[in-house]
Amino acid sequence: MRFKRLESVAIAVLLLASSLSARAQGPSLSAALPLVHTDNGPNSPAAQKAHYVVLVSLDGFRWDYAKRDGATHLLALGKQGVWAPQGMLPSFPSLTFPNHFTIVTGLYPEHHGLVANSFFDETKQARYGNADSAAVTDGSWYSGVPLWSLAEGQGMRTACIFWPGSEAEIAGHRPTWYARFDNKTQATDEVQRARIDDAVALLKLPDADRPHFITIYYSEPDHEGHQFGPDAPETKAAVLKMDGMVAKLKTALDATHLPIDLVVVSDHGMVKTEGPWVTLDKFADLTGFDAVGQLLYGKTEGDRVRLYNQLKKASSQFIVYRRKNVPADLHYNQNPREGDPVVVATGPFAIRAHEPAAGQPDTAPIPGAHGFDPRNMRQMKASFFAAGPDIVSGKTLAPFENVNLYPWMAHILGLTPAKNDGNLNILAGTLRDNGGEPAPAESADQKTPEPTKP
Ligand code: AMP
Ligand code: ZN
Ligand code: ZN
Repeated sequence: MRFKRLESVAIAVLLLASSLSARAQGPSLSAALPLVHTDNGPNSPAAQKAHYVVLVSLDGFRWDYAKRDGATHLLALGKQGVWAPQGMLPSFPSLTFPNHFTIVTGLYPEHHGLVANSFFDETKQARYGNADSAAVTDGSWYSGVPLWSLAEGQGMRTACIFWPGSEAEIAGHRPTWYARFDNKTQATDEVQRARIDDAVALLKLPDADRPHFITIYYSEPDHEGHQFGPDAPETKAAVLKMDGMVAKLKTALDATHLPIDLVVVSDHGMVKTEGPWVTLDKFADLTGFDAVGQLLYGKTEGDRVRLYNQLKKASSQFIVYRRKNVPADLHYNQNPREGDPVVVATGPFAIRAHEPAAGQPDTAPIPGAHGFDPRNMRQMKASFFAAGPDIVSGKTLAPFENVNLYPWMAHILGLTPAKNDGNLNILAGTLRDNGGEPAPAESADQKTPEPTKP
């Protein structure tokens, strides 16, 4: 008897030691893509029971590429679950950082603060740029609660294998795991595959440590779309390469036998640029203005009025607005980071404030671009495919705004969303539970008691 008790104590000690050593050892991550770890503790008991969301972004994967180029694996994913054959609507401006951060916060860019890839903040008297590692890792630039911070705050572990904003502490949290973005190496075959290997390694962790929300980002086919244009064979090849990557990921996720919803999106589309640069200082005197790209920051109200009047009838290639008068459905009229006046292109035109400084080479606009008004340029629309245990099968969706993804993913994960600009009702019909409360686990001998009558 005594011996039996000793034996069971020894087994318990062994089990504890092996679980501790599994935690201590950590996942076997790819050497090509080491991840930064923050010890946010184990998943809460409720989080351990939650399902999983793997959110993949294919940068610049225009809404029509999958059908156009025969991306059979993505189309099959959409058929197994849901997809948007006419595309998903990006937020304005249809640029990478604004839209990636919209997807994970449910906020329009002017509410989460990334109003462009690069912009100026007058209060900080500082500039944010997506290629400036000091800025991207500084949480003070970002507003809203990205899904990984939302989850971490509610006891659920997360991982970001690249995503704009994921390298900063935001809303008091960091993802438990994140990758440092390195533009020099991130597009190599090795680091492309390593994203999948790392995701799978994390999903093999014990229940207590396994992340339930994982982001994966690929910069293709955006880079090819810019360099060669949306219709070039190089862009098609990148589309098909990414389709193959999604197929590998899907097979690997299926092999885990975990209840994973795979969501594949893009941030925006791509359009063939037309004509030479539209240079604003050819039409108006920009003295007294700081400019970042086409964003214009005036020092005095007098300067803003003067510039607005000078640009108002200057060209049919853009419309200029005082910031407060930018059409409400662009959601781009409240944040001083947007500058004032605001210039909006009327077509696929490359707009800049100035020519390069004397001595610097000037080059023609690149063949492909985005950033334009998604309301009147269908080429800006993004992609959406999703399938998994929480998602209905074989349904197609009319175009919807990307702010709606946040409450939808929060619902799948069982999280209470933070304030956002989206609405769960928009995508509720894609969910097996229709967006309602998850059905209570009820067995025959454990019925919910009838309410007592007064
Ligand atoms: P664009 O697609 O023109 O809006 O430019 C976005 C740029 O951001 C691309 O060159 C991407 O490679 C780059 N990028 C994407 N994700 C990140 C990230 N997490 N950190 C820094 N740069 C990124
Ligand atoms: Zn992009
Ligand atoms: Zn781009």
